[in-house]
Amino acid sequence: MTVAIYPGSFDPVHLGHLDIIERAARVFDRVVVAVARNSEKEGLFTPAERLEMLRSAVGEMGKVEVDAFDGLTVEFAREKGARVLVKGLRAVVDFEYELKQASMNARLAPDLDTVFFMTSAPYYFLSSTLIREVARLGGLVTGLVPDGVEERLRAKFRRK
Ligand code: ADP
Repeated sequence: MTVAIYPGSFDPVHLGHLDIIERAARVFDRVVVAVARNSEKEGLFTPAERLEMLRSAVGEMGKVEVDAFDGLTVEFAREKGARVLVKGLRAVVDFEYELKQASMNARLAPDLDTVFFMTSAPYYFLSSTLIREVARLGGLVTGLVPDGVEERLRAKFRRK
């Protein structure tokens, strides 16, 4: 049984993330989507909100679990019994950062392999940063985020 962990900030979850989750669930026996609480960036959504949006988005996917963690990703992977760390790759700019991360993680946990999924064509430009920026400026993100997330973005920026 191969368990994979898919870490990120998911602030908020978008369809590019869901595409990676679905594809990873076809390859591995179990996928643990892991929301990093200790991200250096200050989040728009709280970790609890990010978890809730992810849980409702992956609701139908049987093999997928959503959880949050503090501290090192490799430690959380070990706790979950994961052998594989899943990451998504979009443009060339992702490559250098991900190579550094994967190399450091390989040092910290030599038995955990990082496996990259290439983004699917419709999502190569999608990032949570861009989604937040467009929503903040009042643009529509319809068709880029799961049901319910757009409304939550609108509510966030109404309050600010
Ligand atoms: P983002 O990069 O969207 O702000 P995260 O930091 O939460 O989001 O990303 C978590 C993981 O998902 C990372 O491995 C990232 O490369 C991957 N990812 C994010 N967006 C996409 C996308 N559009 N296509 C493929 N992978 C993606």
